[in-house]
Amino acid sequence: MATLRARLTVAYGVALVGSVAVFSGALYVARRASSIDELGLVAFDEGDRALRFLVAAKREGKELTEERPCGEKRDSRCVYATKDMRDLLERVPGYFLVYDRDDRQIYSSIGIRQLAEEDRSAIDQSAVRLTPDGAGALVSLSDTLFGGSLLLGARKDPALLPNVTRVVAGVPTHIATLSPGILVGTMVLIFPFIILASIGVAYVIAGSAAEPVERLINEVEAITDGRSLHRRLPSDLGNEELSRLGSTLNAMIERLETSFGALRRFTADASHELKTPLTVLRADVERAMHPATKNTERLQALEEALHETARMSDLVDSLLTLARADEGRFDLHREPVALGPLVRDVYETAVILGEHAGQTVTMSVLEEAMVDGDARRLRQLFLNLVTNAIKYTPRGGRVELSLSRRAGDEVAFTVRDSGIGISAADLPYVFDRFWRADRARSRGGERSGFGLGLAISQWIAQAHGGRITAQSRLGRGSVFTVILPQLAVEAPPDRAQERELKNIGN
Ligand code: ADP
Repeated sequence: MATLRARLTVAYGVALVGSVAVFSGALYVARRASSIDELGLVAFDEGDRALRFLVAAKREGKELTEERPCGEKRDSRCVYATKDMRDLLERVPGYFLVYDRDDRQIYSSIGIRQLAEEDRSAIDQSAVRLTPDGAGALVSLSDTLFGGSLLLGARKDPALLPNVTRVVAGVPTHIATLSPGILVGTMVLIFPFIILASIGVAYVIAGSAAEPVERLINEVEAITDGRSLHRRLPSDLGNEELSRLGSTLNAMIERLETSFGALRRFTADASHELKTPLTVLRADVERAMHPATKNTERLQALEEALHETARMSDLVDSLLTLARADEGRFDLHREPVALGPLVRDVYETAVILGEHAGQTVTMSVLEEAMVDGDARRLRQLFLNLVTNAIKYTPRGGRVELSLSRRAGDEVAFTVRDSGIGISAADLPYVFDRFWRADRARSRGGERSGFGLGLAISQWIAQAHGGRITAQSRLGRGSVFTVILPQLAVEAPPDRAQERELKNIGN
């Protein structure tokens, strides 16, 4: 595959040769047309010179023409050039013809007479049609000495009327074609050098334009080897487009770095969370299997092993949920869900959990609202928040639930507790995976958790087109709010109108 530099140079070369060829062609045609115009004036000058001789002779009183019977026909009379006129014009060089009142040629110059018969008659045919001082005519000649053609122009002088009506003079076009010829020659000689020099310059320019691209490729290659994602591309890459590409790539590398970091953290956290219960499980099984262990201790060990297995199973379930959510493979079984009954149900469970934990659970507002969602997932989301509130609230504390409609067709489910709260520094991380305010203490105790509940809750809220927010103050309690879009409910049919319609039907 050709390099960008080579392709740019070739493209430039082709474009240059093409434009030079078109330019030269146009110049040649224009030059030739203007040469022919100039040649027309020369033809007029030649004609005028012959006319001047004739007019001067006439003024001297010389007879230039005479009338005699036309050849054999005795009854008609024709105009002929006198000997005086012929002698006079023989001394005038060039190509010209003199015509009488009947458009008959009465004299042709020596130059014309030396031409081949067919050329003479071709000239005569064109000359007859020319009007004095009007447009000229180009006559092709067989004699190549003349550059292929003769340009004719007609002139007249009132002093010579009525017998001599015009003098037609001709100029060989090779006089004019000389300069376009030189032009073409110059072009052929000079243009190869110009083209070669331009292609050389183009090659150098293309090289310097491609150099930052080359540099960018090397930098990107160095960064994407997998271990250097912390590195960034230079912000100034020589031109605006490349600098924009550089900053776009930088943004992409930053996102990659973040997701790789998150992936690494996630794997490390998941293995860490699994490692501890597995170690406990192993110790319990070993204890149970030891011959010296008493039966009661064995049962205790097995019970503990069962507990750890259940914990691991929960963790694997949560991990699976998040992995599927990340892949976008998680099916939500959406249907219209009445949130009122769902929240009432969650509240009843919360009351039982609260009783066990020695807390007062209340429901301050319960408004009916419909959402388009997965009832099972929404229940999981609400229960997560409720169990967290109970878990992180000491005995004697209060947990308050509410479900209220909001402006903008939204519905808010709020869980407020008077618990331990979360510090302002920790609050931004509560929805992160495996994040726990106090990792060391949360394991094994009654607050044991993996730090995945809120991450899953956030995903469920977002999958329903909603969001979840947290407000908290350390030692004062927390407020978690889920906001979901309400389902637009069709107006219930008008019963009276329905009855009326029925009657019409009967
Ligand atoms: P966990 O299973 O550890 O509860 P979550 O994702 O549900 O995991 O919560 C993450 C962390 O957020 C908890 O470990 C806890 O430190 C903090 N947290 C969550 N809810 C509350 C709350 N209502 N009050 C105080 N801290 C909370």
